[in-house]
Amino acid sequence: MGLLDGKVAFITGAGHGQGRAHAVTMAREGADVIAIDIDQPIANVLYQHASADDLAETARQVSETGRRVLSRIADVRSSEALDAVVAEGIETFGKIDVVVANAGIFTQAPFWEMDEKTWDDVQDVNLKGVWRTMKAVTPHLIERRAGSMILTSSVNSVEGNPAAAHYTAAKHGVVGLMRSAAQTLGAYGIRVNSVAPGLIDTPMTNYQAMYDQMAGRENADRADYDRAALNFGAIAGQGALPPESIANAAAWLASDGAFAMTGQNIVVDAGHTILAGFNPNPVLPG
Ligand code: NAP
Repeated sequence: MGLLDGKVAFITGAGHGQGRAHAVTMAREGADVIAIDIDQPIANVLYQHASADDLAETARQVSETGRRVLSRIADVRSSEALDAVVAEGIETFGKIDVVVANAGIFTQAPFWEMDEKTWDDVQDVNLKGVWRTMKAVTPHLIERRAGSMILTSSVNSVEGNPAAAHYTAAKHGVVGLMRSAAQTLGAYGIRVNSVAPGLIDTPMTNYQAMYDQMAGRENADRADYDRAALNFGAIAGQGALPPESIANAAAWLASDGAFAMTGQNIVVDAGHTILAGFNPNPVLPG
């Protein structure tokens, strides 16, 4: 018996990272999976983007669990693409029960130096893409009077990030969207929650600029990053967390056992956000 036996889950950004973990975890728990990702890099994103082969690998891992999978290249910046894959998913599996709006990108720049495209790209994927994903599936869930939506926010939905105000604004926005949708859709028996990941070991956090940032110096390597990541959380020995840490939380939120859970932003961060903060640069510049 799995947590999600007989359910169908629609997962965005499933080419690698957390999206792949969501797909494989939900399949292991008994769900058939509709998995989408894009096959092109987005400007200013410095880390490895997922290819069509990566999405095919996710599909292979889902199939290996014995569950069925429909994988498609589709961009959350296109309602047309989302509507088409949702229609094909319902045609293939008969229904959708679970939505994981996980697709996201991360870029960094001081907000006053950032160009409008950098700002807009992050809002378009991380906030508007979540809204488009929900919009594509909600009529079907309303018709069925059932469903669980899980939106991916971030610890940057409950704290600031001086290097990424645009990302932080988008992730705070995801929580506002989640709470509003949870109120509206509760009347139809649909639950809406978000998961707020801490530092997760995925391509998004595994590249030179992130090593340097975490280690607090230039030319740091992965070992420096791993050491520095141990300071990010409260639980001893937990640095950058495996994507399954988020997938496990989402699988439970998607399950019938979470029947009374809606409108909540569930932080999964090894205690990062309960740590006492300090100001590394309290001296006025200039
Ligand atoms: P990731 O490995 O980069 O995965 C994100 C996935 O989303 C990628 O496969 C990416 O494809 C896809 N994607 C990006 N833009 C898309 C679009 N327009 N349409 C469809 N798919 C798109 O990073 P991750 O860590 O798994 O991130 C998953 C979510 O967690 C994101 O929302 C992220 O903001 C959030 N998060 C991550 C962390 C962390 O520490 N990693 C912490 C807090 C929150 P490409 O690779 O081809 O662009």
